[in-house]
Amino acid sequence: MKLQGTMQINDKGHLEIGSCDTVELAESFGTPLYVMDEQYFRQNCRSYYRAFTEKYDGVVLYAAKTLLTLAICHIVAEEGLSLDVVSGGELYTAKKARFPMERVYFHGNNKSVAELKLALEYKVGRIIVDNRHELLMLNRLAGEAGVQAKIMLRLTPGVEAHTHEYIKTGQIDSKFGIVIENGQAMEIIKQALALENIQLTGLHCHIGSQIFEMQSYTHAAEVMLAFTALVHQETGWQPEEMNFGGGMGIYYTSADKPQPVIKYADMLVPAVQTLSKSYGLSVPKVLVEPGRSISGPAGTTLYTVGAVKDIPGIRKYVAVDGGMGDNPRPALYQARYEALLANRAAQQQKEMVSIAGKCCESGDMLIWDIELPAPVPGDILAVSATGAYNYSMSMNYNRLPRPAMVLVRDGVADIIVTRETYDDLIRNDLVPERLDDRVVRIAGAVR
Ligand SMILES: *Cc1c(COP(=O)(O)O)cnc(C)c1O
Repeated sequence: MKLQGTMQINDKGHLEIGSCDTVELAESFGTPLYVMDEQYFRQNCRSYYRAFTEKYDGVVLYAAKTLLTLAICHIVAEEGLSLDVVSGGELYTAKKARFPMERVYFHGNNKSVAELKLALEYKVGRIIVDNRHELLMLNRLAGEAGVQAKIMLRLTPGVEAHTHEYIKTGQIDSKFGIVIENGQAMEIIKQALALENIQLTGLHCHIGSQIFEMQSYTHAAEVMLAFTALVHQETGWQPEEMNFGGGMGIYYTSADKPQPVIKYADMLVPAVQTLSKSYGLSVPKVLVEPGRSISGPAGTTLYTVGAVKDIPGIRKYVAVDGGMGDNPRPALYQARYEALLANRAAQQQKEMVSIAGKCCESGDMLIWDIELPAPVPGDILAVSATGAYNYSMSMNYNRLPRPAMVLVRDGVADIIVTRETYDDLIRNDLVPERLDDRVVRIAGAVR
């Protein structure tokens, strides 16, 4: 496992994060445990802030869907970033954390009336409109509220980025955004410009996730600006801001080669400037929406090893006390992770094992084929790069309570999410009275 952020191996041979011994963290807080490296999270925020905001007067939106809690909101606000939320729940979390609402951008391909009303009531900075239905609904709701809704339109540029390559497919088959190629985007822009309670400030696109090929972004910029030039010709309108979404790839395993944020900024922003000038447009403010590349590397999950099952000549299964409930990504997209034994981090001899989760699903395997020092029950397994799309995607399958999360820094560990209890699991369950009666009667009959 690659040591990232403030990770180091201490004198006891234990993994440390934020100068906290992870074996002690596991003892104090139990496992599974999400550990967030505060300094590393902030450092990732700062890399973006420096590259896009200080250098180019751009705006950086942290993608809340990767990891959002009240404490995380506070840090993101403090680091000067804005926030991209995709639901009423994320919006509510931001509000409760007193995140400045003018720095909140509201996304989603099927926002409800209630969600849009909440966004207007909270006075969020922008609503990123995904489709015509939403545009008309928002115009009506804004009218009823007596306000102007500032919006961006989400477009489908037909550039689809995959991990190591991008395809310029002109792919128009997506549930997100409005297609440029077939004229629908032009149409909706004209419609938005004509609506009384809508103020169109810019355009948005998002070309994918876990991207390592920076050229994908300049291609997106080429498509977006060529289209903007057409829009300007036809309508006289041009965007004040252009949002290029998120997607920067991170290190999960040695197959991943992340790019520095500054390189991303230095490719994207000058491309937007040059293209704008060549089309005779004024240069829009550049917005980006990184999520994974801020929260992902800053998170580590600690598990306790339980059953070790050796099937000679086949495979050695090492089961841990979590799995797809706290990290659905391996089951969902065959995502790969690295790990080490936190209590024996310095040991060299290793054997090939596979890490199994505890859910009743054969697909609940956290890591296939990893070299570790012969794990035994009681060892603490640390899986790295679990900060993004883990807690935010976690679930209670098998009625497993969700883990706690601690924020570590300079030897101090603070709980920012408490561990769910069994009572939390039945919190929303109700038993209609007639069933309750029957249970009593049946119990009586048995007796
Ligand atoms: C998911 C998403 C992001 C964040 O993507 P990352 O790959 O985590 O950086 C940003 N913008 C939009 C619209 C998204 O859907």
